[in-house]
Amino acid sequence: MDFKFSLCLVVLLGTCLAQKIRYDGFSVLRVVPKTEKELFALKEILDNNRQFEIDVWRFAGVVGKHADIQVSPKYFLQLNQTLAENGLSPKVTVRDVQKLIAEQELKNHEVKETAGVFEYGKYHTLDEVNNWIDNITKYYPNITTVFEITKSYEGRTIRGIRISTGEGNSKPSFFIEGGIHSREWISPATVLYMAGQMLDRYSADQRIKQLVDSFNWFILPVFNVDGYMYEYTWTKNRNWRKTRSKHGLCTGVDPNRNWDYEWCKEGASKDPCSDMYCGPKAFSEVEVKGVADFIMKNSKMMKGFIDFHSFSQLWMSPWGYTTKLPPDFKDQDKGSELAVEALEKVFGTKYQHGSIANTIYVASGSSADWTYGAAKVKYSYGVELRDTGKYGFLLPPDQIIPSGKETLEALIALANFVVNN
Ligand SMILES: [Zn+2]
Repeated sequence: MDFKFSLCLVVLLGTCLAQKIRYDGFSVLRVVPKTEKELFALKEILDNNRQFEIDVWRFAGVVGKHADIQVSPKYFLQLNQTLAENGLSPKVTVRDVQKLIAEQELKNHEVKETAGVFEYGKYHTLDEVNNWIDNITKYYPNITTVFEITKSYEGRTIRGIRISTGEGNSKPSFFIEGGIHSREWISPATVLYMAGQMLDRYSADQRIKQLVDSFNWFILPVFNVDGYMYEYTWTKNRNWRKTRSKHGLCTGVDPNRNWDYEWCKEGASKDPCSDMYCGPKAFSEVEVKGVADFIMKNSKMMKGFIDFHSFSQLWMSPWGYTTKLPPDFKDQDKGSELAVEALEKVFGTKYQHGSIANTIYVASGSSADWTYGAAKVKYSYGVELRDTGKYGFLLPPDQIIPSGKETLEALIALANFVVNN
């Protein structure tokens, strides 16, 4: 059973719908499987122990890579013991999830805003993002237009901006998306910052001008509009990841397991209550189908694609569904390498790079596998932004602009490489 659902059973349904879920005393445990046997044991524990009220913040699918597991105070000792019995010695990385949620909200609330000026160093609601889209395209009417993907399951419009200078039709395109997983707030925030910089510094900064001029940019800041809006804001559940479609007793499909390429094989779940539920069929989610159709329609000119996530600081290319490497891996990973080198130069933030399956875990039906495998976008990436787990999804807003600055440098380096290859 889905934990959020079970929580709804223990309180009155009305109360549940009205109140935001709290995570008082919930902690996050880190374990590193050192052998295949330990990795297998960990997978079993995570798959079969929903009674522990586990929420996987970061999954470990590779020996030597860590997993971060959120657990309720009620099951803390029991989970600890089970992990220890299997040779996995858990360490606490977050002591009180609710405390971090409260801190993030408070600090976000305290960010000073000037009237009429969009504050990039703050986490914004979907309404605010939509206002930003309207305003910035009015402010830069000659080089920007609004594009609409489709309506979400709950009827919200998925919108982005296209930035296009000069002879738009003859140029290659680059698609950037944020917020496919709704709890990964730093993703839309970083995408917004980069788009803002590309426009505000276009006339004054030669490097930015070159970046903007080299592609037609399709920038989608918030992909999972229902998850972001309905669960994300101060109203419901800070830890929501999936879409909001209904599947029996449980809600939502993992939009990054729902793409129609090697769909629902290893690293995805057929259980509708799982956070990695692949959906009843490939492209069952209107949001995923909408973005895929949009990319396919423009695929002839599409040369680059990045899907921004958090957290872990990884710059990854296909494949996700298998540890085997695709024929273009050397070129793709060279792009990653240049990106993370440029990124590190800004504040010293270290990213790792490699194929998805070898760097984090095997995951089938993900966006980058589909854009590369089906839409033939050679330079397709999945990026995990800050941090490495101190705050996880609950990254304080004072890290938004640093994340934006360093990721923009990575994008410049990558775009330079792609345009010349
Ligand atoms: Zn994600």
